[in-house]
Amino acid sequence: MNLIERLDKGPIICAEGYLFAMERRGYLSAGAFVPEVVLEHPEVVTQLHREFIRAGSDVVQAFTYYGHREKLRIIGKENLLEPLQKNALNIAKKTAKEFPQLNLMVCGDVANTNIYDPKDSSTLKQCQSMYEEQVLWAKEAGVDFIVAETINWVEEMKIALKAIKQENIIAVANFAIPRGDITRDGFSAEDACKIMEDLGADVVGLNCYRGPKMTMKLLNKVRDKVSCHVAGLPVPYRTTEEEPGFLNISDNDCDCIPGGNAFPVALDNLYCNRYEMAEFAKECKKKNINFIGICCGAEAHHVREMSIAIGKKPISMKYSPDMSKHFHHGTDNSLKKINREIKY
Ligand SMILES: [Zn+2]
Repeated sequence: MNLIERLDKGPIICAEGYLFAMERRGYLSAGAFVPEVVLEHPEVVTQLHREFIRAGSDVVQAFTYYGHREKLRIIGKENLLEPLQKNALNIAKKTAKEFPQLNLMVCGDVANTNIYDPKDSSTLKQCQSMYEEQVLWAKEAGVDFIVAETINWVEEMKIALKAIKQENIIAVANFAIPRGDITRDGFSAEDACKIMEDLGADVVGLNCYRGPKMTMKLLNKVRDKVSCHVAGLPVPYRTTEEEPGFLNISDNDCDCIPGGNAFPVALDNLYCNRYEMAEFAKECKKKNINFIGICCGAEAHHVREMSIAIGKKPISMKYSPDMSKHFHHGTDNSLKKINREIKY
């Protein structure tokens, strides 16, 4: 079954957020955000794939995000582009094969190039060749589909979508919508998604930037507007009407963040817990938003609860909380009464 057939049958879970997860673990640097870990410590990438799979992700997304030509240029390592991309794809495929019983899908990914400039037509050509080279590597690796994501411009997304569809690969087009609720070229989320549906995207939706509530606000309109499958992959942070995106966000309870912006490495106090992410997943399921996921900030515990919330039984569900055995909160009669009665 391909992605579309799977989505026709019901929701799937897609765990993302590899860059942030690797930064927190100390395997890449915030700022440039280049997935060098794919070459330097591939075993760590494999392990994160495993954790997300065990938590219920139906998709193993090759960690090629931000491993594109412009990102490697900025750290002076363009020569690593091809080995990085190919290694990431290979790691994803190999890890998926460790779980033959799960029928996992492997996907490739293209993202914002950071060079697109509507006033400079030469950048359109550059974007096109960046997307095409990545799509070809993903195709060569035999991915099940490709996600184009975190793109702010309709015009840039068109180039990405074309690169995927001209290779006859299933395409997911996910916009990241800045403050003001419109793309950088002035389209509402729902209009931007409708344009992509009309141009042949198989799934359209939103990822990154916004927390679950601010994502859902726009996702409702997308769901109403398009007839194809819809994707929603928020960041697990409590963004608000005043600060809907996490790129510029304050933590009012903390006065020691250098520069005052909690993005990207001081977002901890704004974290959504697993239950908040589960609520998002449930709402998606109810609204027939079937490509359900999580972006920057994701950890396996979020993914597990989201997966359980939509009725799945991920491997790591085995270790779901069981407070009946807790020394203080437990209900098991063999626990000591003196420890259960005290208030800490
Ligand atoms: Zn993200």
